Amino acid sequence: SAKLYIVATPLGNIGDITYRAVEILKNVDLIAAEDTRHSGKLLSYYQISKPTFPLHDHNERQRGNVLIEKIKSGQSVALISDAGTPLISDPGYHLVNECREAGVDVVPVPGACAAITALSAAGLPSDRFSFEGFLPVKEKAKTEKLTALSEETQTMIFYESPRRIQDTVKHIINIMGAERKLVVARELTKMFESYYTLSAGEMLEWLASDSNHCRGEFVLMVAGAAKDQDTLSVDAIKTLTLLKKELP
Ligand code: SAM
Repeated sequence: SAKLYIVATPLGNIGDITYRAVEILKNVDLIAAEDTRHSGKLLSYYQISKPTFPLHDHNERQRGNVLIEKIKSGQSVALISDAGTPLISDPGYHLVNECREAGVDVVPVPGACAAITALSAAGLPSDRFSFEGFLPVKEKAKTEKLTALSEETQTMIFYESPRRIQDTVKHIINIMGAERKLVVARELTKMFESYYTLSAGEMLEWLASDSNHCRGEFVLMVAGAAKDQDTLSVDAIKTLTLLKKELP
């Protein structure tokens, strides 16, 4: 019977898609995409000409039901997002959940994901990590979220927009201390791919030193809090940071 395929697409470098993914996109009846114009470039590069169907955050619930009916009537559907793996800070959760509930087969077709790609070359502990997606935009919720994470010992992975990266690093300095180690992975798989490993304090200076430094797409990784009993607690570091500000 017809299925829903969840297909990962490249993060930037157009070569980063699997043979199987291309094969499946060529064989389904319909491709559900976040931004059909954006995906058009990828599809035409691989000479995939299939009808597309817009499915984004704002219409997912309602449009999802239309898709489920189509699958039930025998059409196979592939879901893609603008970049990387659908559902990972991207639309698709309601659709997949409802397909599962309705007994429709959902098949993952794995590939790129910015979080995993970033972590794989960051040089931070990768045995355990927590993926945090995007931080809340609102000041209070953002502070609460980072405060709740301040004692987390696993590597933390955030997606961040160029508009907010500087503000987020400021919050990290205030909540986790200026000494906390950060790694920024920028423009992964693209021409200007780069990694920056700096303390939070140094990272803020670097970001503020040139507006070009805040351009592009970012994954922000935060080293976990030290587990060692001998090291300073997060509270002590916070107090020290505040004291340092007051000193001449
Ligand atoms: N579903 C995607 C995935 O599997 O990674 C993530 C989609 S989310 C809407 C977009 C965010 O992912 C960006 O704001 C950025 O944080 C991160 N991202 C996507 N592509 C990237 C790239 N080439 N380099 C760095 N970060 C990237």
